[in-house]
Amino acid sequence: MIESKFALHIHTTYSDGRGTHNELIDIARKAGLDGIITTDHNIWVEGLDGYHGDGKNKVMLLVGEEVHDRDLEPPGNHMLILGQNKELSPFSGNPQRLIDQVNNGNGLTFLAHPVEDPLERFNEKDFSWRNWDIKGFTGIELWNQLSEFKSVSQDLNSAVINALFPKRMSLGPLERTLSLWDKLIAARNEQIVAVAGVDAHQLEKNIGPFTLKLYPYLHHFQSLRTHILTDEPLSKNFAEAKNQILSALRYGHCFIGYDLPAATDGFRFTVHNDQGQYIMGDEVKVTGGLTFQIRLPQKNLCRFYKDGKLINEWQDRDVCTHMTTEPGVYRVESFIPYKGKQRGWIFSNPIYAWL
Ligand SMILES: [Zn+2]
Ligand SMILES: [Zn+2]
Repeated sequence: MIESKFALHIHTTYSDGRGTHNELIDIARKAGLDGIITTDHNIWVEGLDGYHGDGKNKVMLLVGEEVHDRDLEPPGNHMLILGQNKELSPFSGNPQRLIDQVNNGNGLTFLAHPVEDPLERFNEKDFSWRNWDIKGFTGIELWNQLSEFKSVSQDLNSAVINALFPKRMSLGPLERTLSLWDKLIAARNEQIVAVAGVDAHQLEKNIGPFTLKLYPYLHHFQSLRTHILTDEPLSKNFAEAKNQILSALRYGHCFIGYDLPAATDGFRFTVHNDQGQYIMGDEVKVTGGLTFQIRLPQKNLCRFYKDGKLINEWQDRDVCTHMTTEPGVYRVESFIPYKGKQRGWIFSNPIYAWL
């Protein structure tokens, strides 16, 4: 397997972000990313998709869009759209039509920050997903750094500390989002892919003669990544490589890594049955025994979930196995101590073991 590290859900000067695409490419290079996916609000920016730089300096830029309904009050229904070479905001008023339109064009749809709290102190509204009468979307943003900030900064003290020291903020996806994800999969009996979104804007506040950069792009790019797994190295041909990345995301061949405390590169979650080996995101038939294997890049706390319930836990291990004959939706969470707190480190996509 080849692993590529991406930061998703980034705003540029085309909407309410402070960085240009070229600046973001340089920052991505500095952060050691393989690629970034920009998604500006209700605008698809044409002509920038591609590889930028050569050799070790090569960074892939994919341009998507974050579409939301401007007429909705309170606002909500923000959707990340990838793999479409056209403007889709005209469909923003009807999420199902938007999803159908993107599916017709073989693109991907992720519900952005599906669960949010308002942050009245900063005049930030709650942009949760509102319309659940939809089908056919690819997945959800399980961990959104901006949503997390809003939820954990409700009192003034936390707000100030989290704003000034971003490394002390992140703990993991919101419990409510994790539970929503498990419930959606169970209720719909279908795959729902989880990705991480940095939702980076690099907001700037002027304080007297100083400009304070809140949540710089570099912090986002160094911390919360979606690690994407492909069978082959990414093609040198950009169009082919783009298809490899989008296809891996479509099938959930990816995991969320909070790479600031320690790199999550090399995490693997696989299952064997009598037919062969499968990876996260795959569907597997339960025809006999299943042997799950989890490999962590270093020893840490590892939790194993079936249908949203914790069924096994290992402390301080880097290889964990679990054998079963039971069908279910299985996934992994791992935690790491960092800056005085136990923090979410790795969140896998599920392996769907159906009868
Ligand atoms: Zn949004
Ligand atoms: Zn956004």
